[in-house]
Amino acid sequence: MEIHNSVKGLKEKIKSFKIGNKSIGFVPTMGFLHKGHFSLIEASKKDSDITIVSIFVNPLQFNDSNDFEKYPKNEEGDIENLRKLGVDILFLPNTEEIYGTIGNIKIEMKIPSLMKNLCAPSRPGHFEGVLHIVSKLFNYVLPDRAYFGLKDYQQYLIIKELVNNLSFPIEIIGLETIREESMLAMSSRNSRLSGEELEEATLLFRSMKMAEKNSRKNNASIPMLKEIIKEILLSSRSIKIDYIEILDPESLEPKEIVSGKILIALAVFIGNVRLIDNIRFEV
Ligand code: AMP
Repeated sequence: MEIHNSVKGLKEKIKSFKIGNKSIGFVPTMGFLHKGHFSLIEASKKDSDITIVSIFVNPLQFNDSNDFEKYPKNEEGDIENLRKLGVDILFLPNTEEIYGTIGNIKIEMKIPSLMKNLCAPSRPGHFEGVLHIVSKLFNYVLPDRAYFGLKDYQQYLIIKELVNNLSFPIEIIGLETIREESMLAMSSRNSRLSGEELEEATLLFRSMKMAEKNSRKNNASIPMLKEIIKEILLSSRSIKIDYIEILDPESLEPKEIVSGKILIALAVFIGNVRLIDNIRFEV
C-alpha cells in the first residue's frame, strides 16, 4: 500500500492508473476504522482494479469544535488494517493540504430539498462541509465508483444527488449498516462511550425495531410509532433525544400515514457523544 500525503503525489499516481486503464474504487473515511469501513473497502476490492481509501477528519463538516477535537484517531492501527485488507492507496492529507488557508473556502454547497430535516438542522453547516470535501476528493481521485454507508443515510442521498445533479461520472454505492452483536451500529464515536453507555446505546436499534413491529398493526399511526420509540429511548437515564423522524426514504419528506416505504431515523446524545441510526422497511 502506498501512502500519499500530498494532492500532487496522489494525482500523479491516479494519472498512471488512468493511462493503464485501471478502474478505481474509492472509500472516503475519517479514520478510526472498523468493520463498517472494512465492508465498503471489501466491496470496492471486488468491483474495481484499484481501491483508494482516504482518511481526513474534515473540520468543515463539524459544527461542534469539541466533537472535532475529540474525534478518535488511530493512524497506526488504521494503516495496519488497510494493508491487511490489500488497499492500494491511502490518501492521508492534513488540513492545509486540502484547504490551504480557511479563507480559500469560497463556495457553499447546498441541496435544499434533502437538507430540511434529520441531521441538517441539528448540525448547521455539516452537509455543506460534506458536499465540499467529497467534491474535492472526487476531483483528486477520479473514481469510477465510490462507497458510502447507509448508516449515514441522509449523507448517502445527498452525495447521490450531488453526483446526479452535477453529472460526476461516478457510481455511488450505498452499503448496509454493519452492527455489533448487540445490534448497535458500528461507529468510530462508540469508542467514546463507557460500558454502561454502550449498553444504553443498544436502545436505538431496539426502539426502531419495536416501531417497525407496531407499524404492521391496523391502528398504527406516525405519532404512535414516534411515541413508542421515545418511550424506549427515555427508559435510559443517559440518552437525550435530538430527533426521531419517520420519513419517505427517497424524498425525505415526513410520512403522514404508515404505509409504503418508510425510513425511521434517530439521533441521540449519550453524554456529549452524538449517535445516529436508521432502518428502512416497507408496510
Ligand atoms: P466516517 O469515517 O464515519 O466518515 O465513515 C466513512 C464511511 O463509512 C461513510 O460512508 C459511513 O457511512 C460508513 N460507515 C460508518 N459506519 C458504518 C457502519 N456501521 N456500517 C457501514 N458503513 C459505515
